[in-house]
Amino acid sequence: MIETYLTHLECGLTGKRYDADRLQNLSEAGKPLLARYDLARAARAVDRDALAHREETLWRYAELLPVRDTQSRISLGEGYTPLLRARALGREIGHDRLYIKDETGNPTGSFKARGLALAVSRAKELGARSVSVPSAGNAAGATAAYAARAGLPAHVFMPRDVPELFVHECRALGAEVRLVDGLIHDCGRVAAEEIARNAGRFDLSTLKEPYRLEGKKTLGYEVAEQMQWTLPDVAIYPTGGGTGLVGMWKAFDEMEALGWIDGKRPRMISVQSDGCAPIVRAFERGDEFAKPWEGARTIADGLRVPVAVGDFLILRAVRESGGCAVSVSDDAMREEVYRIGRTEGVFAAPEGGATLAALRRLKESGAIAPDESVVLFNTGSGIKYHHIID
Ligand SMILES: *Cc1c(COP(=O)(O)O)cnc(C)c1O
Repeated sequence: MIETYLTHLECGLTGKRYDADRLQNLSEAGKPLLARYDLARAARAVDRDALAHREETLWRYAELLPVRDTQSRISLGEGYTPLLRARALGREIGHDRLYIKDETGNPTGSFKARGLALAVSRAKELGARSVSVPSAGNAAGATAAYAARAGLPAHVFMPRDVPELFVHECRALGAEVRLVDGLIHDCGRVAAEEIARNAGRFDLSTLKEPYRLEGKKTLGYEVAEQMQWTLPDVAIYPTGGGTGLVGMWKAFDEMEALGWIDGKRPRMISVQSDGCAPIVRAFERGDEFAKPWEGARTIADGLRVPVAVGDFLILRAVRESGGCAVSVSDDAMREEVYRIGRTEGVFAAPEGGATLAALRRLKESGAIAPDESVVLFNTGSGIKYHHIID
């Protein structure tokens, strides 16, 4: 049996320690809990080059994942997605070393599968009797799928105006769907009220439990492994709650401590929509925390997140990396979805289109040089957003 080197949890703001082996949501400070590992022991036990022979899922990094017992894994084959060299797209926009980390092949068609595979595995391992999640769309589908596979009832809460395919998907996967007037944080409020009334129901809200982050950090391990244990100059990530960006930054810290990579890190670019850009605004103002965005509107459902509990972690990673936060229009996202599709054969979600729109903007302003290596994170398939394609 592969051993995890998980030791404890730590408040992302205060550093206070918490027990990793009971169900936990936020810290007493109301901030995300981060999983910590004995990396010195893991460094002696795990040979990075031996990973090449392991299964092609995110479970290849099992020692650095929180699940205690291999039997507790709830898996649908998530992760280890391709890092595509985008030559035709690169030629078209004048950028040679361009890559797409393509998450369309994940179960339920988005990278939410990574986080929910880990969160549901751990929730079940630690005794949850049912799970609950507020979602702008993709997290609900992934929760429904992994909960079904775990044999746990799932309760998902989505905005009433969420595209209908997200709703059908959750119902087909056996979840109880509640549509709520408002946005994802309103869904979170209703979900929390119901959790208070239902013993044994566990909240899987993003960054309000510690293990979705652990699933999403595997994006960082994979990019490093797929680039022969180097990292690109620039990583462009479409940011809602920010779990993927914060997770990758955590993965870089861990891999450096493990001796798997050297200190050279990418500049982290956080992309949001002009219609919902709380992180961009906070970045520009030099704030540590982001104020809620009023009247959030965008076709990129994953970016329709007006409040992020991990705001300070996103901003910290972007700033430490020397990166930046930029917003792009919905029209630009749509146009870039077509460009990615036509040149590379990848049907990207609008969130993926947003990363290309950001790259083009930052090339124009000179913030990204033509010879730098760039990874675009296409976080999901465009298929559930068919209503935006004309
Ligand atoms: C949820 C989602 C995002 C945003 O991810 P966070 O980790 O919340 O920042 C981006 N793209 C897609 C397709 C999503 O479903």
